[in-house]
Amino acid sequence: MSQAAKNTTPDITPNSEQNSSDSNGFPYRVPEHFLQQIDHSNPQDPLLKQVKPSRLEEVTTLGFSKDPVEDLDSNPIPSLIHKYHGRVLLIASPKCDIHCRYCFRRHFPYSEQSNLRHWQKAIEYIKTNQSVHEVILSGGDPMALGEKVLVKLINQVESIAHVKTLRIHSRTPVAAPDKAPFQAFVSWAQQSKLNKVLVVHCNHPNELSDQTQKLFTSYKQAGITLLNQSVLLKEVNDSIDILEALSHKLFSQGVLPYYLNQLDRVQGSAHFEVDDETAIELHNKLKRRLAGYLVPKLVKDIPNQGSKTALC
Ligand SMILES: *Cc1c(COP(=O)(O)O)cnc(C)c1O
Repeated sequence: MSQAAKNTTPDITPNSEQNSSDSNGFPYRVPEHFLQQIDHSNPQDPLLKQVKPSRLEEVTTLGFSKDPVEDLDSNPIPSLIHKYHGRVLLIASPKCDIHCRYCFRRHFPYSEQSNLRHWQKAIEYIKTNQSVHEVILSGGDPMALGEKVLVKLINQVESIAHVKTLRIHSRTPVAAPDKAPFQAFVSWAQQSKLNKVLVVHCNHPNELSDQTQKLFTSYKQAGITLLNQSVLLKEVNDSIDILEALSHKLFSQGVLPYYLNQLDRVQGSAHFEVDDETAIELHNKLKRRLAGYLVPKLVKDIPNQGSKTALC
């Protein structure tokens, strides 16, 4: 870590044994690369705000819950969530190298849900459900599995004939490109006949660096479609200029904007919420500034809807 980072934010250090301390039941974790993207002279830095624990997380807010998207109601077997037609989501890893303070799975019962011994049952479930053509690896962060284990899991998914698309949802390529799976993963992608989609998670243009650019280029050359989802976050990216810049920078790095998610109302995250009216207004302005393909869909995860709900 740079000396500057050390001096100005003694309470924010990269992942290590020392920072595994508990903070409102959700320990703080930040990888080195993400830390380096923070302007440590700015206490209002939009990246710092995403990862620095706050007393506001202790506030209990009406309408906010531990399972805001009701994932556990669509959970036929541990580690597998089957909510939407044709695609299932596999909680591939409980671990994530970055703990975003607004994380909607911060209270998720990972110890019961995500365990390598559940994989076989999940694979069996997919095998017996012919309608499943897309498998989404999520978490935690599936890329936190390490590439050997990740590729092993992917190979099991690929062995199911009716699965056509493998999608990975991960924050690692943005938050810690140096830790992202590389050689074995890229080799797998180059020869795989599956449709391959990687949905990264980036909220602010400052999160993108030369390192993310390099990684995305390698992934893209290996035939992976790159998309991004963001969460609309108060005082982080609830600004037309920032959202516009984010779309342009993502595209210049080979990534298309996919979703702009309204915050999932998980207990402890109310201070990040942007109300729907403001969100829709921002999105309308964004449409007037950007080419259609650079405008992410503004969506909300409302339980029992059969898909994410478009807000406009
Ligand atoms: C968001 C989500 C998906 C993927 O939805 P898409 O609209 O296809 O991106 C799948 N399963 C679950 C449980 C989800 O929350």
